[in-house]
Amino acid sequence: TGAKPRKPEWLKIKLTTGEPYQELKQVMRSKTLHTVCEEARCPNIYECWANRTATFMILGDICTRACRFCAVKTGLPTELDLQEPERVAEAAEQMGLKHCVVTSVARDDLKDGGASIFAATVKAIRKRMPFCSVEVLIPDFLGDKDSLQIVMDVQPDILNHNIETVERLSNRVRAKAKYRRSLELIRRAKEMKPNIPTKSSIMLGLGETYEEILQAMEDLRAVDCNILTLGQYLQPSPSHLDVVRYVHPDEFKALKEEGLKRGFSHVESAPFVRSSYHAHEQVKSAEAR
Ligand code: SF4
Ligand code: SF4
Repeated sequence: TGAKPRKPEWLKIKLTTGEPYQELKQVMRSKTLHTVCEEARCPNIYECWANRTATFMILGDICTRACRFCAVKTGLPTELDLQEPERVAEAAEQMGLKHCVVTSVARDDLKDGGASIFAATVKAIRKRMPFCSVEVLIPDFLGDKDSLQIVMDVQPDILNHNIETVERLSNRVRAKAKYRRSLELIRRAKEMKPNIPTKSSIMLGLGETYEEILQAMEDLRAVDCNILTLGQYLQPSPSHLDVVRYVHPDEFKALKEEGLKRGFSHVESAPFVRSSYHAHEQVKSAEAR
């Protein structure tokens, strides 16, 4: 393999911490909750938290899978925490969130993959905060239809499931997940609840070609996926997959146009875009449809 590409200027940003950030951080600590914002060291944390958007990671911080791009610990998860949905809702309330994303590790050890805890969390947030939109970013539940139904039945504002990469690289990048199974999940979600917007995300810079990205967009549109996010993959540690390429901001812009042309109602496409970035705006645009 050749030399590693150097980190370009546009990825060197200066982070500033503000008051909302400190305040929300304290709430999280007091509830012993995990956020993707913190654990993934997301570069958008100050902006998102200031905008009252956060992504909670439920069902523990140990995953039964080991995707080669992901910084989450792998192992045998601890037991189920049945109080967690209520604690997430309390935290969301104390943080005054306007948009709340709920995601989890893959709990392949549980019969429903954790779907009932997702549902309980959505319900608990709704009860305390009827005006806070709730997006769920779910694992594939190993393709189990009943698990998906449990989540769809509580009517999340957005159903998000990431395909993460193009079809050719799927097996290398994602552990156990399958490209076609993920598309099928998105298709089924829409079939179960046609009014709930569906969303997916692709990381760029893992070796995919431009044509393959366009193909992935078309595959997502073929299952009526409504919202797309595209961001630069960044290597969380030297033992994770190498960055093959840093995609130029202009290319992200061009891809956004390609996505909109193909019928996505909303496309976020820029180097620092993450699955939940600007999610509150997507709810608005989804409502306007
Ligand atoms: Fe958190 Fe998502 Fe915002 Fe990152 S983009 S700070 S993970 S809400
Ligand atoms: Fe990370 Fe999700 Fe893969 Fe688990 S399933 S390793 S949390 S990306």
